[in-house]
Amino acid sequence: MKEELKSLFAEIVGLNNVIDDPALFGPYTDDFTDHYVSKPLAVVRPSTTEQVSKIVKLCAQYNVPIVTQGGNTSLTGAATTYRPDAEIVLSMTKMKNVIDADPLSDTLTVQAGMTLAEVHEAAESVNRFFPLSFAAEGNATIGGCCACNAGGVAVLRYGTTRDLVLGVEVVLPDGRIYNGLRRLRKDNTGYDFKDLFLGSEGTIGIITAVVLKLFPAAKEKETAFCCLNSIQDAGKLLNRFKMKAGSSLTAFELISDLPIERVKKYLSDIEVPPLSDSPWKVLVELSLEKKPQESMMEHILEGAFEDGEITDAAIASSLQDSHTFWHVRESIPLADRTAGGSIHSDVSLPISLIPEFVEETSAMLLSAYPWLGLSIYGHLGDGNLHFNFVSPEDPGATYRNEEGIREILYSQVNKFEGSISAEHGIGMLKLDHNYQFKDPLEIEMMRKIKNAFDPKGIMNPGKLLKTE
Ligand SMILES: Cc1cc2nc3c(=O)[nH]c(=O)nc-3n(C[C@H](O)[C@H](O)[C@H](O)COP(=O)(O)OP(=O)(O)OC[C@H]3O[C@@H](n4cnc5c(N)ncnc54)[C@H](O)[C@@H]3O)c2cc1C
Repeated sequence: MKEELKSLFAEIVGLNNVIDDPALFGPYTDDFTDHYVSKPLAVVRPSTTEQVSKIVKLCAQYNVPIVTQGGNTSLTGAATTYRPDAEIVLSMTKMKNVIDADPLSDTLTVQAGMTLAEVHEAAESVNRFFPLSFAAEGNATIGGCCACNAGGVAVLRYGTTRDLVLGVEVVLPDGRIYNGLRRLRKDNTGYDFKDLFLGSEGTIGIITAVVLKLFPAAKEKETAFCCLNSIQDAGKLLNRFKMKAGSSLTAFELISDLPIERVKKYLSDIEVPPLSDSPWKVLVELSLEKKPQESMMEHILEGAFEDGEITDAAIASSLQDSHTFWHVRESIPLADRTAGGSIHSDVSLPISLIPEFVEETSAMLLSAYPWLGLSIYGHLGDGNLHFNFVSPEDPGATYRNEEGIREILYSQVNKFEGSISAEHGIGMLKLDHNYQFKDPLEIEMMRKIKNAFDPKGIMNPGKLLKTE
């Protein structure tokens, strides 16, 4: 059957685009976290929606599950096969065309395999800006971002992927093509299918193209790194920026001192601005329509300094400085991985509860695992923290104790009315915990939707929902 299927796939996409030699699987099978390795029947690489549709029809006929894959940057094992030697990986990375750019409507329509960085370039080519941005943007595809409802560093002003997509084209599990590529900001004609596919982790259909919202590019940016004595002060500083800068506030990133120390120690080529010692830092960015006569950033930080909310700050004096500041923030995942034993989380909480949550949860974790290295940073403005862990002395220690570490963390998230996934999704990694903490009625409703779209269960089994 394997040979028969392979030649049928090859008839659709060409022999070069059906890879079944495990020696060539590497980029499609080894995931970013080093936790999951796929064992697919084959990797199939279509170039058009029609090809995707034909592959899906074939898979439905032969009952072969499909793991749709973009850049394979998932942090939750969402783009990895569930049953070895029984599923195909459908790589979207050849589907990279711009379908339409419409600056007057502020829309960009692209195929789903474009990387986020390529989407940024396409938007800039029509003098517009697409705000979704995060450290893996050179590899993550826009289809993958939609499937995970990615967030990133500008959610405070522009929202998550859900807020940035106007329409989707999707190949359904029976191979039919749903064309929802509408460039409309208002469309009240029934159920919103777009929002069902966003965040569905490839479990009910394959997103083949999307209509994205564009924005006029901000003319000026002001970026600063601030030093704070306590996490409580971060909340006060956020409130100050919200009141004084309004919608100009684009990013407000909280970073504890340990991850910054790890960037210095393990990534010596990264330039870290000279900042005084402090347990917490905040990286803040304002986007302005025009250059103000006086720096808005300076004005706000002067007030914060006088009121004791910050102890020191470095303000970027050029775009280059601003890139340097952001580079430090974006290098933290790599520094943690280099340190050893890195495990991730992406929890969200009501912003007002974050200081108490961080203090109580850190104390509980360190009491249970005194050797644990904490790496706490994240998008405080969105209530989203990466409460991560390393164990440089013994890199296996975090992995051996991962279940217990996550149990404490997620129980605390539940106690503080939060969510176990703000932006990375559920995948395989958080499946059991999602069942543990999500309302059973919500799981039941999700199951009904899954079964309605995908009665054969061939779309990315074992992710988001348990197999039946
Ligand atoms: C260093 C790093 C930093 C990150 N920072 C952030 C951050 O700040 N904010 C944030 O939100 N996320 C962040 N992420 C996670 C990020 O959201 C995901 O990795 C990304 O969105 C996945 O895109 P991808 O193309 O690599 O998808 P993959 O990893 O290939 O797939 C992810 C999921 O999407 C599905 N999928 C992929 N393409 C499609 C498609 N076309 N149709 C249907 N389903 C599809 C897959 O089946 C899988 O379930 C980060 C990841 C890394 C590695």
